[in-house]
Amino acid sequence: MLSSSKSLTSRLPKTGETIHGHKFFIGFGGKGANQCVQAARLGAKTSMVCKVGKDSFGNDYIENLKQNDISTEFTYQTKDAATGTASIIVSNEGQNIIVIVAGANLLLNTEDLREAASAISRAKVMICQLEVTPAASLEALRIAHSSGVKTLFNPAPAIADLDPQFYTLSDVFCCNESEAEILTSLEVGSPSDAGKAALVLMERGCRVVIITLGAEGCVMLSQTEPVPKHIPTENVKAVDTTNEFSPPRMHALDGMKGLLTFGVSGEGAGDSFVGALAFYLAYYPNLSLEEMLKRSNFIAAVSVQAIGTQSSYPYKKDLPLDLF
Ligand code: ATP
Repeated sequence: MLSSSKSLTSRLPKTGETIHGHKFFIGFGGKGANQCVQAARLGAKTSMVCKVGKDSFGNDYIENLKQNDISTEFTYQTKDAATGTASIIVSNEGQNIIVIVAGANLLLNTEDLREAASAISRAKVMICQLEVTPAASLEALRIAHSSGVKTLFNPAPAIADLDPQFYTLSDVFCCNESEAEILTSLEVGSPSDAGKAALVLMERGCRVVIITLGAEGCVMLSQTEPVPKHIPTENVKAVDTTNEFSPPRMHALDGMKGLLTFGVSGEGAGDSFVGALAFYLAYYPNLSLEEMLKRSNFIAAVSVQAIGTQSSYPYKKDLPLDLF
């Protein structure tokens, strides 16, 4: 989980310079928490297994989870690192300077996961990403897999040399175009490219592969339906969030260093999609995969029409009844 601060300025400061900005925002981000918030807002009973610092950012984040009806029983707090943060400065021209400190995220360890094992093994679905250490993610996947819990793995931020066990432990492997490119070394710019990349990923042992394609929807492939299928989505007007708050997205995490982009249209849509898909896998397991993806596309399309990340995620009460 990441606490984010964003300052808007007329221009970026030079080294050693102090300037006045004109707006400041604090917000909540991180893929796991975003996905959990979206699933909870659709009505899922959720629990967040993660680590934050014993500091005000950590306390605020825990409060944010509680306000979203997410259980924090396994949201650990540590004195040994600060809550993960992203500090962002954005100029009027959209240039930015960003520092991510992953902090407590990297201290979530295998012992913590074993402590949470009783809860994980009772879940219907477990979602996992790569914003904690790969060892922690793998342990969570192993616990879920060995208990027959459906695993939904989102390999983000992607790493090229992903441990092969991630594929075999994934019931559903869901990534975006750029992550699919990093993982397969194939160019992914169209539904047909995505289908080819999905075939490569499935050969590595996943049971279902989904590649999201922004405004193009997504492509699915499964062991039972081994021909890639494009699931298009709604044609909607995405908001431009450049000058509003939206928590940052880590696109690469290497130890304590992170690279991210933010402020693009559709910010956080991927996490809305993954959270919605987890909801359908858990609560509507008899729907076809195609129908689950159509509904997840719809929910993510709603999110791209509002500002921010978690703030753009719809609640069940605001969605058409036929999605439930
Ligand atoms: P982000 O980085 O914004 O979270 P992502 O790159 O992880 O996104 P995308 O593939 O861009 O993920 O989007 C995920 C899903 O969100 C898509 O499969 C689609 O359902 C929906 N979506 C994203 N952008 C749009 C859009 N402009 N119009 C309609 N739906 C969209």
